[in-house]
Amino acid sequence: MLQLTYVKPSVLEWWDVPQVRLQNAGDAIIRPLAVTRCDIDVLIATGVAGFKGPFALGHETVGEVVEVGDAVTLFHPGDRVLVPFQISCGECDRCRSGQTGHCTSVPFRSSFGMAPWSGVDYGGGLSDVLRVPFADHMLLRQPPNLSPSAAAGITDNVSDAYRSVAPYLKSRPNARIMIVGGRAQGIVLYAVDIARAFGAVEVIYVDHDPDRIRVAKDLGAIIVERNVADGGPSLGPFPITVDGSGTAEGLAFAIRSTEPGGICHRTFGAFEEVTPVPLRDMYTIGVTLHLSRLNARSVMPEVVECVSHGKFHPERIITRYASFEDAAEAMLDPTIKVVFCRDGA
Ligand SMILES: [Zn+2]
Ligand SMILES: [Zn+2]
Repeated sequence: MLQLTYVKPSVLEWWDVPQVRLQNAGDAIIRPLAVTRCDIDVLIATGVAGFKGPFALGHETVGEVVEVGDAVTLFHPGDRVLVPFQISCGECDRCRSGQTGHCTSVPFRSSFGMAPWSGVDYGGGLSDVLRVPFADHMLLRQPPNLSPSAAAGITDNVSDAYRSVAPYLKSRPNARIMIVGGRAQGIVLYAVDIARAFGAVEVIYVDHDPDRIRVAKDLGAIIVERNVADGGPSLGPFPITVDGSGTAEGLAFAIRSTEPGGICHRTFGAFEEVTPVPLRDMYTIGVTLHLSRLNARSVMPEVVECVSHGKFHPERIITRYASFEDAAEAMLDPTIKVVFCRDGA
C-alpha cells in the first residue's frame, strides 16, 4: 500500500509499505478520505521540528471504516468516522479521567503521523488505509451534515483551538480576548472564530503575516499589525490572552498583556530544551499560564456538536484544497491550512 513518508527535511515521498491489517480484535481499518495539515506538520516537513525520518505523516483524519475486528461493536464497514490524532485505550485511569493524551496502555505521546515522539509508527492519514486500535473508544461518527474536509481538523487543531478559548469564555462571558499569531497559524485562526462564537466582545489579533491577518479580519477580529519578536509595549490588559507565536518573545508579550488574575493560554509547546518565561511579570500581574498537549478524544465530542450545529466554521480557515496525489508538494506549501482530499471525498 502507499503511504506519504517524511524522509528528510523538505523531502516527502509516497512509499510502498507493507499492507496494514487488523492486529487485535478491537482494531478497525480506515480508508482516509480527508486529512487536514496540522500546524506542526509543516514544521516537521521542513525540518524545523528536528524529527528524524523516515516515518508516516498526517494525523488529522476523517475516513471510512473498511474492516473491523471481532470485538468492535459500535462501528461497521461504510461508517464515516473522525480519528483522534492520539492513541488512547479509553479504559486506563488517565483515559477515564479525561487525560486521553496520556493513556498508559500505549507508549508516551503515541500518535498517528509522528512516530519519533513515541517510538512507534502507527501510520499516517495520508495512506491507502490506517489501522485504528481501540476503535470502539477512539472513533467518533462523522455527522452527515459535515463534509470530511470540514470535519478533519476536529481530530486535532480545531479541538486544540476550542479548549484554548471556549472554557475561559464560559467562565468569563463578554471578555475581551487577545490572540497572538505565529507558528500555530491554523489553531490561532480557529481560535478567533471560536472566541467570536462564544461571545467575546472583542477579539484582538496580533500578527505581521498578511495572509493570516486577512483571514483573521474576515473572521471579525480587530487587527494589530505587529511582529512581537521586535519587542515593543504590551497591549490591553486583557482577561484572556492566547499565544500561538511559538516563540519566547510572543509568550512574554502575551503574559505582559494579560490582566491581573487573567489567563494566558499557550497553544504551542517548544522545540528548544528551555524557554525563557517572564516570571517576574507573571508573579506581579498574577497570571495563570496554561499549556499542555490537547486531550483530543475527550474534547472532540463537544467540538463535533458545536460544528455540526454551525456554531463556528472550521472550513473558513482552509486556504488550500489539495489531492492526495499532490500531498508531497502541498505539505510544504507555506499557506495557512491545507486539506488533502481523496478523489471524490
Ligand atoms: Zn497535530
Ligand atoms: Zn488509556
